[in-house]
Amino acid sequence: MDAILQVENLTTSFLTSNGEVQAVRGVSFSVGKGEILGIVGESGSGKSVTSMSILRLLADTARIKDGSILFEGEDLTKVSKKKLREIRGNKISMIFQDPMSSLNPLIPVGKQVSEMIKIHHPKMGKEERKAQVMELFAKVRIPEPEKRYHSFPHEFSGGMRQRVMIAMALANKPELLIADEPTTALDVTIQDQILRQLRELDKEYGASIIFITHDLGVVAELCDRVLVMYGGLIMEEARIEDIFERPGHPYTMGLLHSIPDVEQEKSERLEPIPGSPPDMTNPPAGCPFAPRCSYARKVCAGSLPDFVEVGEGHRTRCFLQYEDAPADEHNPFRGGNR
Ligand code: SF4
Repeated sequence: MDAILQVENLTTSFLTSNGEVQAVRGVSFSVGKGEILGIVGESGSGKSVTSMSILRLLADTARIKDGSILFEGEDLTKVSKKKLREIRGNKISMIFQDPMSSLNPLIPVGKQVSEMIKIHHPKMGKEERKAQVMELFAKVRIPEPEKRYHSFPHEFSGGMRQRVMIAMALANKPELLIADEPTTALDVTIQDQILRQLRELDKEYGASIIFITHDLGVVAELCDRVLVMYGGLIMEEARIEDIFERPGHPYTMGLLHSIPDVEQEKSERLEPIPGSPPDMTNPPAGCPFAPRCSYARKVCAGSLPDFVEVGEGHRTRCFLQYEDAPADEHNPFRGGNR
């Protein structure tokens, strides 16, 4: 699959009063044309900073310290601010968790979407833009688009506001859509509808999607491939079916144990991963997951494991996957208990 986005060795830090927070530490991945890539991890894993780095939507205290982000042959870490403005909302769009923070409360939603079209198509007439907004509202299943065009954001439910954001993100038919936890604040039914809609729209528009979430269950419903992030690093990358059938990293296994199984008649006890994420002002020299990993050995604290290919398009960063790792009952990848 041809790549639409190629991220190489992305390294992003924040300067704080407590020191430098090394939020993303040398992350490399690509997104294929029309592909839906999930990036999953707990809060502080670096997943959102990775996505914000792509469009340089970072706080003033943040710096992209190293790496490149190639989109259509241009390195987005180096293009001018003007060029970046042309790309944002046009070729690459974003949807955030809280639509209220992205919508102007004083302007009717239809007008806001129309303005987004106008920015990138200044010669398009008002009526044509309005017709496009109606079409978009119908596509994202906003009922009575004509009437709702004139509604204000506060007159919409959370789910409906998120549909407006999706309409706005799709207004200029982007090639890449970055959705950062867009369904986290919504109830499960609405979340399900939005995910289904994103899938349908992805098929119709042929756009690629990067979907950021802390929930592997959501990834299962939507994505083709997934990156699992922890401590500012990619810990595992795989096709969606491989992550669920053959997880290759103890952290991924922990995330899987914390997904509710809706098909189970009796609800099984969920097992949150004990412990907390590392302090990224002083990240550990070894595997960042070691303090929380029930399989950790002495070697894990000493140095960072390299990636090991464990299948086609499936790589993972764990010493227990090394060829010379001991095959004993404590190695879940060499016959031990999972
Ligand atoms: Fe656990 Fe060690 Fe593997 Fe890290 S490298 S995930 S600490 S077993």
